Amino acid sequence: MHIVVCIKQVPDSAQIRVHPVTNTIMRQGVPTIINPYDLFALEEALRLRDRLGGEVTVLTMGPPSAEDSLRKALVFGANRAVLLTDRFFAGSDTLATTFALATAITKISETYGKPDIVFTGKQTIDGDTAQVGPGIAKRLGLLQLTYVSKVGDYDAANGTIDVERRSEGGTQMLRSKMPVLITMLEGTNEIRRGTMADTLRAARAEVVKWNAKDAGVEDLSKCGLKGSPTIVKRVFAPGPRAEKAAFVEAGEGNPADALIDEIFKRQPTLEAEMTALARGF
Ligand SMILES: Cc1cc2nc3c(=O)[nH]c(=O)nc-3n(C[C@H](O)[C@H](O)[C@H](O)COP(=O)(O)OP(=O)(O)OC[C@H]3O[C@@H](n4cnc5c(N)ncnc54)[C@H](O)[C@@H]3O)c2cc1C
Repeated sequence: MHIVVCIKQVPDSAQIRVHPVTNTIMRQGVPTIINPYDLFALEEALRLRDRLGGEVTVLTMGPPSAEDSLRKALVFGANRAVLLTDRFFAGSDTLATTFALATAITKISETYGKPDIVFTGKQTIDGDTAQVGPGIAKRLGLLQLTYVSKVGDYDAANGTIDVERRSEGGTQMLRSKMPVLITMLEGTNEIRRGTMADTLRAARAEVVKWNAKDAGVEDLSKCGLKGSPTIVKRVFAPGPRAEKAAFVEAGEGNPADALIDEIFKRQPTLEAEMTALARGF
């Protein structure tokens, strides 16, 4: 089985700051980590590989320094690491990111074998959109299983995999044909420590580095800022709430009526707004 895991190097959100004038994220001097969701995806991929055999390839698109995250993934036990790095990818929004990653996965497929599963985390802790996994699936024509909390049995004869998926109000048990893209939830497994052998292997391993051309990108206008229709108008931290929670005495009579009267008294425009809304139906 060949599994590709997409990991993103992100700033440690505990130490992140937003520039007060430009409203951009201040990355200088902020330590980076592997996006936490991606570690759960990597662990799940390694467990499948350990159980069924095969290889795990980790892939990231980022600056040259993202090699550090790939080496950490090798320490955890990944077989191969691919760094997609080129100035043409700078400033990518999710559309351009999915284009670059899907192109690189196609190249990985041609070079190292077709993946049976592509894993991503559910979302990142910096961009936070949760669009990249589904975007890659759409571009590669893969079935997608999102919000997966557990990967179960693999049926080699029928080429299917069972997963548990967290949904509103419950858990879905799904069986899917492969190849498939899985986006993995947090807290779904216990992330291993690398063995001494893996640490030594990671230190000596070559991280495969591809620029846009190496990865097979033919249309550079779909990459980076050029290929990114998203425009950031404003980034801001919401101010602290001025209002504090208060206990409301229900008073005499029907407690619900008394409570509503009290709320309308405190918010003088609310009753008129709700009445206007109700008339609109
Ligand atoms: C409005 C807006 C403005 C932005 N502005 C900037 C900016 O100015 N500068 C900037 O650098 N970024 C910026 N970004 C972030 C950039 O768009 C994202 O980093 C990128 O598109 C990935 O999206 P995401 O982080 O939301 O990933 P998500 O969709 O939340 O990630 C899901 C999963 O996809 C995979 N994944 C995501 N990105 C990568 C990657 N690069 N390599 C490998 N796997 C990956 C991971 O497995 C991850 O868990 C902006 C994002 C938004 C929404």
